[in-house]
Amino acid sequence: YRDLRVALLGCGSVGAQVARLILEHGEELAARAGAGLVLAGIAVRDIDAPRDVELPRELFTTDAERLVQGVDIVIELMGGIEPARTLILQALQGGADVVTANKALLAAHGPELEAAAEQVGAQLSYEAAVAAAIPILRPLRESLAGDQITRVMGIVNGSTNYILDRMDRFGDSAEDAARVASELGFLEADPTLDVEGYDAAQKATILASIAFHTEVPVDAVHREGITGITAEQIATAKNAGYVIKLLAIAERITSSDGVDGVSARVYPALIRRDHPLAAVYEGKNAVFVEAEAAGELMFYGAGAGGKETASAVLGDLVSAARRHVVGGPGIAGSLHAELPILPVGEVNTAY
Ligand code: NDP
Repeated sequence: YRDLRVALLGCGSVGAQVARLILEHGEELAARAGAGLVLAGIAVRDIDAPRDVELPRELFTTDAERLVQGVDIVIELMGGIEPARTLILQALQGGADVVTANKALLAAHGPELEAAAEQVGAQLSYEAAVAAAIPILRPLRESLAGDQITRVMGIVNGSTNYILDRMDRFGDSAEDAARVASELGFLEADPTLDVEGYDAAQKATILASIAFHTEVPVDAVHREGITGITAEQIATAKNAGYVIKLLAIAERITSSDGVDGVSARVYPALIRRDHPLAAVYEGKNAVFVEAEAAGELMFYGAGAGGKETASAVLGDLVSAARRHVVGGPGIAGSLHAELPILPVGEVNTAY
């Protein structure tokens, strides 16, 4: 294989798992990508900070700007706007493909970053930025590219889903539910981003822009959080056959004066108990898509977690690497006898 050099920016919850998976599964990734993936370095603030994963010390640097020069692919997992934005622009201008999970940055500067990538023919991908492990952006962008999407509704914030679910299923008060969520690590020290719907609004921007091929700035997303929701409201909804979920909705609508457009909004919505989104419990995420020809689709899974988020990042990494390999490997090229075929033994019949 030809080797591709990969720079990793950030080694926190997600970055450490990405580094581990690249080092542990190097051979499989190389076979699937058609190119070796060589971790050129890992940029952090403090080289001596404790890490979730033991990694070779010589990989670490505090000079992110230098690290992004001369590599083929940059993975940005630092978070925040700066220096992430500048480093990504520098990487793209240098011709590298970029993978990021940075929803805050994408919601604020997505169009600028997309334009920079397009200008040099580089790839910018961010599957992990919405609903972490759940593949949703690539299905919207690629699998459904020939369809007309009419509506996307997502439970895209695990912390608020955890709180609302406890209130619904166990009758917790808002305060008790928030306390348990906090104890279990579902809430940040400052929970405002989650409970006020800012995090969901960032994801609504990304979903709406991709589903409707239109720049939808985060300011254009109507946003209401869950802080006003009471145990009484939850109980009333329950008696009427509904559950309250914080939804990020992007929808194609026609205004009263006949203009076709996009509506993007985040608010605690009533969902009928028999809707698939009603069964998304605890901290899980799901995205429900309605399209003209495909009908209804649902994507479900883990919307947070270092390892889970790393899965989506690695998918983008392999996809970016494949672009560097002339003539190879598409789907067929990735059938490389990774595993033997085993006979059917005593398989489960109940799942
Ligand atoms: P962490 O805070 O755990 O890690 C951030 C890492 O970036 C740390 O290693 C830190 O270095 C490094 N870093 C931060 N600023 C700088 C800087 N200026 N220069 C060099 N290094 C820097 O973040 P997460 O891993 O949780 O998240 C990373 C990204 O993934 C974020 O954009 C987040 O929104 C996104 N994401 C996270 C999910 C999750 O479940 N955690 C889910 C989906 C998306 P040091 O260790 O030295 O402090």
